[in-house]
Amino acid sequence: MFFYVIGRQKTLINVFLLIALFISMPKVFAAQISNYPDANKEAINYLKEYLKINTTNPPGNEKLGAEYLANIFQANDIEAKILETGNNRACLYARIKGTGKKRPIILLNHIDVVPAEAKDWQYPPFAGEIHDGEIWGRGALDMKGFGIAQLEAMLMLKRSGKTIDRDIIFLATPDEEAGADFGAKYFVEHHAELVKDAEFLINEGFFIDSDNKGKARYWGVDVAEKSVLWLKLTALGDAGHASMPLKDSSTNRLVKALNKIIENSPKAMVLPAVNEYFKQISTTVDGPLKQDYENISAAVEKPARYQEILKDKLKSSMLRNTISLTVFKAGYKTNVIPGEASAEIDCRLLPGVKQEDFIAQIKNIIADPAINISVLDWQYAGASPYDTDYFKAIKVVANAESPNTPVVPVIVPWFTDSHWFRDLGIIAYGFQPFRIDAEHLGTMHGKNERIQIDVFLEGIKNTYKVLSKLVN
Ligand SMILES: [Zn+2]
Repeated sequence: MFFYVIGRQKTLINVFLLIALFISMPKVFAAQISNYPDANKEAINYLKEYLKINTTNPPGNEKLGAEYLANIFQANDIEAKILETGNNRACLYARIKGTGKKRPIILLNHIDVVPAEAKDWQYPPFAGEIHDGEIWGRGALDMKGFGIAQLEAMLMLKRSGKTIDRDIIFLATPDEEAGADFGAKYFVEHHAELVKDAEFLINEGFFIDSDNKGKARYWGVDVAEKSVLWLKLTALGDAGHASMPLKDSSTNRLVKALNKIIENSPKAMVLPAVNEYFKQISTTVDGPLKQDYENISAAVEKPARYQEILKDKLKSSMLRNTISLTVFKAGYKTNVIPGEASAEIDCRLLPGVKQEDFIAQIKNIIADPAINISVLDWQYAGASPYDTDYFKAIKVVANAESPNTPVVPVIVPWFTDSHWFRDLGIIAYGFQPFRIDAEHLGTMHGKNERIQIDVFLEGIKNTYKVLSKLVN
């Protein structure tokens, strides 16, 4: 573990300059701080520069990004620490002090990005270019854009000179895209004391779901993720010559077991948060779906309607545990019946479902004691309550910024770094306050990732407004 404060000398010079500036023109300085146009210009430049730093994971090299962010904080008289987590990998931790009347808020974001093949892109992925009112680059949405929005909102809060009742912690982590061993996992194992007093955390997760004209349908706040359970099913049997079939061969047993799993897919389970989600977004759809969403518990009991609802893969992932058959291994020669056959399955479980209960259900369905089930991976994801000041603050801002747009809890099928902090007892929400439509959503982990400038700026404003409500 390496832990140090960078740029002390530079900070001192900056502090000196800021003090001098403050003494000479206090009003100008004060006016500048919550001035959106200036902050906006600054944030666009920050994002462009940040996107130029290639933090493709693997290998990551996120320390370069951490140093870039640290310099911005240092230049604004906010102490920032680089916490090394591996070879050229590091977290960035910065904190502004409040009165301590309320517990801190963590602004969490990740520095790494997934790979990008430049030849597939319309504009280069690591150049931070602006084209047609959009900022292009790998990470624009996932999630350097929100990282900079959080940073800018924090700078605005600091410059406002307002007394704040909570500390604001900015935490940028490496390795979110590849398991967090050098990122959030490392951080909570080695530096949990830096954040353990926090009440809330805001991270990526969901967003403001919008149609292709940019109109917001609803503000979706991820309050829980699904747990990951990877299982391996192994069937054993006699080996033999394929000219004389064996009824109970390993391959036959495995195929029968998998067939039973497919035919008995997990039943719908409507959690209270999911019930509320569908009820609230029922105003955003028409026709029979509107009725279904208004009473989702009743709709899932009607086979035809349930099949219709399942067509929306994202929404329906909230309604049940899921199983995907992914890896098969058996045999080495067409005329030899193998003595062993195996399959790996990827299960995603709703919050609250226990690993052992789910495996017991699968064993029950298979009803073949000759099939062995082993656990390859288990990552439990907890849930956060949504009757909180943070959730309420998002609702108040949503109501002012886009009236009559529902703010709803969402359970997402994917995984973010939030669960590491939920495990510490911190209430974590995944919510990028950006309007994102299907086309832009498809660029995350895809090609041509970009964010519209107006959407980015709106995200800064939303973040600042929500924070402002929570610090007083
Ligand atoms: Zn991400």
